[in-house]
Amino acid sequence: MARKYASLLEFQRRFPDEASCALFLFERRWPEGFACPECGGTRSCLLKSRAYTYECIACGRQTSVTAGTILHRTKLPLTTWFWAAHLMATHSNGMSAQQLMGQLDLGSYKTAWLLAQKLRRSMIDPNRDPLEGVVEVDQTEMPFRAAADPDSPLKTGKLLIIGAVEVIDRATGKAQKPKALGQKYLDTLSGRIRLTAIPSNHAPHIHAFIKANIAPGATLVTDGHASYPGIAEYRHDPRVIGNMAAHIPLKWIHRVFALLKRWSLGTYHGLHRQHIDAYLNEFVFRYNRRFYRHVSFETVLGLAAHSAPVSYWDITGKQNPSKEAAPVRQNVRRRKTASGMRQDGVEHADAEET
Ligand SMILES: [Zn+2]
Repeated sequence: MARKYASLLEFQRRFPDEASCALFLFERRWPEGFACPECGGTRSCLLKSRAYTYECIACGRQTSVTAGTILHRTKLPLTTWFWAAHLMATHSNGMSAQQLMGQLDLGSYKTAWLLAQKLRRSMIDPNRDPLEGVVEVDQTEMPFRAAADPDSPLKTGKLLIIGAVEVIDRATGKAQKPKALGQKYLDTLSGRIRLTAIPSNHAPHIHAFIKANIAPGATLVTDGHASYPGIAEYRHDPRVIGNMAAHIPLKWIHRVFALLKRWSLGTYHGLHRQHIDAYLNEFVFRYNRRFYRHVSFETVLGLAAHSAPVSYWDITGKQNPSKEAAPVRQNVRRRKTASGMRQDGVEHADAEET
């Protein structure tokens, strides 16, 4: 299933119209067939008066397939949401409102902007387990825009970002085992990341970020900034960088920062200070799912709450990252649901088409 979604065209073939999107939402909401949230009744009819809404035969409660998702009460077609979510999730750099408007022939920039903002709010990595093992931590400064206007000039300086990245052993694909302090980590990959804007690089801000994002016991590889020591639960492995380029001992976090800066300038022409957390969440979300972007559209649509997130380890545990586990599970459920719907008797004739 996932492979078929790889391109926008394939995605659009899978979700060509409102009915196919609504059916998908129905199956996500009721994988075992309709169940009334009020009385648990399993018999329903599809309303003609309200789009995508089912009425319980037993108690009359009406439930929309979009309830509890960001699509609820939308005036835009479901296809627009689905296609926009696919673009946001799969495009390696994400999509600005401007790009979304062009790709989907949206009528106005305002519509595109609101759509992008709503989708972006869902882009919080659902797999928030703390980073583990050997973790590079560092800070960087980002240019930012004071105004939302993309043409307003960039100001450089005050926006301070702290980031962390797991170091992965390339040979095993698993967390790098800690070595003696100061010893080099060679032949590694980057794992999951976290990024946060902090008001200053004073110790309390840095310690709060570390505690919120990194599991106790981890080895923190840093540039030896004075704010890092003093957290008892972590093993601190400072690298004295001096005149050496900082990207040598802190290779992965510096690569993440470089990607973040290129992305913010390329896609957004600089980040708007007010929305910095949403932008960072989006970047982290996309980075941490970079091996399976095409299955992320459901998360972007706000549908992930019902499903167990696919973890980084689910993917890297297999040698071939293209053999994802999640789409297989979805396929199984899809088949179950198709028969379940018939057995549970979604009675209205329209249901077959929806
Ligand atoms: Zn009911």
